[in-house]
Amino acid sequence: MALLEKANRVAHQFDLTDDDVRRCCAHFINELEVGLQRRSPAVCQIPTYVTEVAYGTEKGLSLAVDLGGTNLRVCSVDLCGDSTYTTKQSKITIPTRIMTAQKASDLFHFIAEQIQHFLQTYHQELLTPDKAKTAELLSLGFTFSYPAYQNSINSGILLRWTKGFDIPDAIGQDVCHLLQEAINELHLPIKITALVNDALGALMFRAYALPLSETRTSVGAIFGTGTNGVYLEKLHNITKELEGAYPPASNEMFISCEWGSFDNGLLVQPNTKYDTSLDQVSVNRGNQMFEKRVSGMFLGELLRIALVEMHEDPEVGLFREFREDAATEADGKIPFFTQWAVDTSILSIAEADNSGELLPLRQKIADALSIPEFCIGVEDAQAVKLIANAIGKRAARLAGTALASVILKSGRSLVNPHTFPVDEDSNTTNRALIDIAVDGSVVEFYPGFEAYMRDTWRVIDGIGPAIERRIRIGISKDGSSIGAAIIALIAAQQFQNGSNVA
Ligand code: ADP
Ligand code: MG
Repeated sequence: MALLEKANRVAHQFDLTDDDVRRCCAHFINELEVGLQRRSPAVCQIPTYVTEVAYGTEKGLSLAVDLGGTNLRVCSVDLCGDSTYTTKQSKITIPTRIMTAQKASDLFHFIAEQIQHFLQTYHQELLTPDKAKTAELLSLGFTFSYPAYQNSINSGILLRWTKGFDIPDAIGQDVCHLLQEAINELHLPIKITALVNDALGALMFRAYALPLSETRTSVGAIFGTGTNGVYLEKLHNITKELEGAYPPASNEMFISCEWGSFDNGLLVQPNTKYDTSLDQVSVNRGNQMFEKRVSGMFLGELLRIALVEMHEDPEVGLFREFREDAATEADGKIPFFTQWAVDTSILSIAEADNSGELLPLRQKIADALSIPEFCIGVEDAQAVKLIANAIGKRAARLAGTALASVILKSGRSLVNPHTFPVDEDSNTTNRALIDIAVDGSVVEFYPGFEAYMRDTWRVIDGIGPAIERRIRIGISKDGSSIGAAIIALIAAQQFQNGSNVA
């Protein structure tokens, strides 16, 4: 079969029709509801014990440490109380030996050391013996973006690892307690006052920075190494037990969906043989099935699997001249033939490259897959582009479906869209009905990710074109750390004035 014909056929397998979108959305809402009623293995709807969004008026200094899938960030944030702040940040790549350490203490000791190093570099004044004696502890928000069941705002039992981490010893333990112990061992003047996931951090950061007159952010989502969402839910809808304390006057609480494990049974999600191959070699087979179709950790691998198949089929002959034995990397591994070796950024380059000769994409293929340039013709690049686009578009449409589901679940779109006047002629929306904070390299860098998400909102009952236009979405760049520091500060103040009681 001709190369492009085959590429088109492969690409079509990743189609997600408008009907599929509506079916996924209905099932999604159902899983969200079940998760509020009982501890569910699917979308497990973790209560965060954070009951209020930031208003920009918060003031004070606090810290955050953010354990992402790729990077560890430490930051301090000084909130000025007028939606502005100053921050100091450090970032390092998490070594693989730490991600798969023997003991949980190896990981948490490593994190504590990074915090210590950060304080030595930027806040030496906080490490003076006097400071430690006065027992004025700095509050710290721990951004921990793995499923942890929260029993209170500053504790959480690790349910399972995702995104390539694998330290079995830590499962079932309170990750805040483990980090606090490691911090205490180093005698750092710090108290962890909040456990936060990156989606909630991103949300809080955006909410803090918005002008007071703006619609507050009520939904947050991450599309990076992994994917997850948080939204503001009515307390009376959360019928499962809430063990921890929270301010008694609250009537809402942020819920972390843990939507990476949506529809693990594949009842409504699309499934191709490429998805099946990927799942079979993953560390968490049968789990995080939504994440495996949406997030950065997996999309590059999905593309690689499809391309290898097309290369190995002599009738198709993708990169026909390329011989594995002719091109050996220094370490003997060619990314094209190595599991997990292809980054999702190649999908963004493919989507962005609309040039006739596709030179930028061909260059990227050469670099990312280690295939010699002479083996990459225009047709090869066109085939890669077709499939990359299909994988990326499906990811964005699934992402849009997830966001639509939480928007509908939170009931916010049911507000009459005419409550705030829309100036149809000038095409400006004065106020959003719903404000969403997003973060992560996939949503930030994949061209048209937002546009593909919006396509799904327009065809979903209860949203449609009128409300789609009133949904505002903003990148909360690296907001998860700053947001966690904001939450930690608010929580510390609530602990102090005693308002954080059940
Ligand atoms: P983290 O999840 O650690 O916070 P990021 O949000 O940067 O980090 O996400 C990293 C993921 O994004 C990786 O899986 C990587 O493959 C993917 N990625 C990196 N750059 C791009 C890009 N330009 N376009 C799409 N995906 C990208
Ligand atoms: Mg992140």
